[in-house]
Amino acid sequence: VKMFMEPIKRLVSFNEQFQKGMAGFQRFTELMAIKTEIKENEDAKKLENIKGNIKYSNVSFGYNHHNKVLTGINFSINAGETVAFVGPSGAGKSTLCKLLPRFYDIDKGEILIDNLNIQNLSLVSLRNNIGIVQQDIFLFNGTIKENILYGRLDATQEEIIEAAKEANAHEFIINLENGYDTNIGERGVKLSGGQKQRISIARSFLKNPPILILDEATSSLDNESERIIQKSLAKLSQDRTTLVIAHRLSTVRNADKIIVLTDKGIVEIGKHEELLDKTDGVYRKLYTKQFSLV
Ligand code: ADP
Ligand code: MG
Repeated sequence: VKMFMEPIKRLVSFNEQFQKGMAGFQRFTELMAIKTEIKENEDAKKLENIKGNIKYSNVSFGYNHHNKVLTGINFSINAGETVAFVGPSGAGKSTLCKLLPRFYDIDKGEILIDNLNIQNLSLVSLRNNIGIVQQDIFLFNGTIKENILYGRLDATQEEIIEAAKEANAHEFIINLENGYDTNIGERGVKLSGGQKQRISIARSFLKNPPILILDEATSSLDNESERIIQKSLAKLSQDRTTLVIAHRLSTVRNADKIIVLTDKGIVEIGKHEELLDKTDGVYRKLYTKQFSLV
């Protein structure tokens, strides 16, 4: 019996080894496609007292090594300017903006802030200089006050209220039963989309960063909230370098520069009137399709 069992055991064992080997091989190939995590340089510099000039130089990026989302991207933004990114969904507008705070590292090229390569900057100081107002608003379980405070942890009560006022949020907050101490999130009160957005804008006012990224909501709010939020955002983007992924005509029109991004990369850069003048221009087409009947 023993003599009979031995080869079978060996066979089973081999099979196990083979399975393990295959799993290991699969893991290996998976790992090859996944990119390394964001690391800080050993001699990383602090980003301080910046003007807010931004330059993307020959930037290429993909979420993995098989698939490029952006290739050879070149543009620059002067300090204080508002630049609107427009283009079809999936072109890479959000991705392009996420590269600035180094949520992902680029594969090729350089991104410069005031002529400093972001790769050589301390991550905390880099991200302290960039405010982000997004479509999917990041509010956590906690009070309204805590959620605004997240913009700058050493802020005083007065500064929090000041920021909320600038974001047109103060009024609705004090009308809640527990005011600034109102709990939001899973176990708290339900806020409307517009209210959540205003809290997130208050957070950015408190942070007061020289660079701002706005990912405009595609879904429209009711007219009243829309108007209020537009006003707060316009105020927020004043005197800062602002990159806005634009869905609203008013944003695009008022931008200092419009950058048109398609799956072919950046195809047009210019002001609204300039781009509209281009017969067969991509912006002109997008504009007529999206906005002509507005
Ligand atoms: P846009 O903002 O112009 O609509 P995105 O930057 O969101 O475009 O997406 C560009 C491409 O990258 C799309 O093909 C999208 O599916 C892909 N993508 C976006 N985020 C991720 C992610 N976290 N992981 C993998 N692929 C992603
Ligand atoms: Mg997007």
